[in-house]
Amino acid sequence: MSRVIIATHNPGKLKEFLSLLAPLGYAVTSSGELGLPEPEETADTFPGNARIKALAAARASGLPALADDSGLSVAALGGAPGVFSARFAAGDYPAAFARIIEAAQAADEWRAWFTCALCLAQPDGTTATYIGQAHGRIAPAPQGLGGFGYDPLFIPNGYEQSYAELGHAVKDRISHRAQAFAQLAAALKA
Ligand code: IMP
Repeated sequence: MSRVIIATHNPGKLKEFLSLLAPLGYAVTSSGELGLPEPEETADTFPGNARIKALAAARASGLPALADDSGLSVAALGGAPGVFSARFAAGDYPAAFARIIEAAQAADEWRAWFTCALCLAQPDGTTATYIGQAHGRIAPAPQGLGGFGYDPLFIPNGYEQSYAELGHAVKDRISHRAQAFAQLAAALKA
């Protein structure tokens, strides 16, 4: 069985990576377990930052590494916070939810979408990146306690419940991250 490093220090993402990777049959170690440092996310695109994180982990560990860069884009904010989603919340998600709902209300524009750029990097510097997107709308108030980050605020198209309410069984089938992983799985099989 081949081994891969999951280059994330975000426990919510790590949980999703583990369940999305399970069917691919990899032995998995996280960059947190190995004590690998978190590189600075200096790019201004999802693929750029995913590449920085995956390459840093692959080079430091000598093993293939997977990283994602992801975030929520809000139409009423012109696509922000996007790549700056973690920084926009700065650890205070209730305050970030309030700012987003206020903007959506003011513009009467509720559309939003999540993007995930997933990068698989090899220690020799080779990379492959897969992009997944999930479209939906901002909830009028946060809904549900499950998941992480902006999950309570996002209602995917075709559903009335937020990611936080839908839970992992559904989210891992339809999410931006699940779609990027599906492309990775297809590429590995090809
Ligand atoms: P980064 O990719 O480490 O820069 O962080 C992405 C940030 O986007 C996370 O910290 C969350 O705030 C948000 N985010 C990305 N994916 C999800 C998701 O699946 N659910 C909720 N929030 C997410």
